Amino acid sequence: MTSHTLIAGNWKMNGLLSSLDEARAIAEGSSDSVVKIAVFPPFTLLHAMSEALGPDSHILLGGQDCHHEDNGAYTGDVSAAQLLDAGARMVLLGHSERRHGHKEACELVALKARAAVKAGLEPLICVGETLEQRKEGLTHAVLSKQLRDSLPDDLIGKAFHVSYEPVWAIGTGMIATDDQIIDAFALIRRVISERFGDEFKPHLLYGGSVKPDNAAEVLRLEGVGGALVGGASLKAADFLKIIHSAP
Ligand code: PGA
Repeated sequence: MTSHTLIAGNWKMNGLLSSLDEARAIAEGSSDSVVKIAVFPPFTLLHAMSEALGPDSHILLGGQDCHHEDNGAYTGDVSAAQLLDAGARMVLLGHSERRHGHKEACELVALKARAAVKAGLEPLICVGETLEQRKEGLTHAVLSKQLRDSLPDDLIGKAFHVSYEPVWAIGTGMIATDDQIIDAFALIRRVISERFGDEFKPHLLYGGSVKPDNAAEVLRLEGVGGALVGGASLKAADFLKIIHSAP
């Protein structure tokens, strides 16, 4: 039996070479899982993690961002081809910590997504509203704009994922309610089908304070195809509980 559920761990700016043991423990503890599992370590660990897990590992690795150009004079940046070369199969794009912390506009996220698919990576593109935007009733408008402007036509026919991550739920312990998730997912599906056509069904994840004790409830919601997990992906024991609670 295989599952289309994707459980992805975003390590953010956490982890040293000594953390590779956690990655090994995640792999060992999930070897019988039917769920698709991804880990997004910091760039510095990508190659070492890929070597530690081995070429046939069921764990997919991904970068947490990439540059939109193939190579060149871009100090401090990493290209999609370099991620692939280091062992990545996926790349996280448009995470709120990039959109807000690095002022990344949707148009830049779209250029990065284009570079990612061109290099052969599966992009996981994040969208989400801030608490102020939600309070002002702007959630639908913000998500619609982010989706319209962050997803390039180049994604048509390619494997990619979209994660709904309300900014106010990230790292706060305040997970979105079932109704909020269902409402956002319905909108996301509608905007994407208007943009790409009805036959195009991207894989949708939820992210924001997913923990071992709430994962099962989120993952059983209609249309939720997985979770993007931050803090709770750093410890193998917690991440494995989330993986094992997937339907
Ligand atoms: P969190 O982060 O699980 O720590 O809330 C989620 C994310 O930022 O992807």
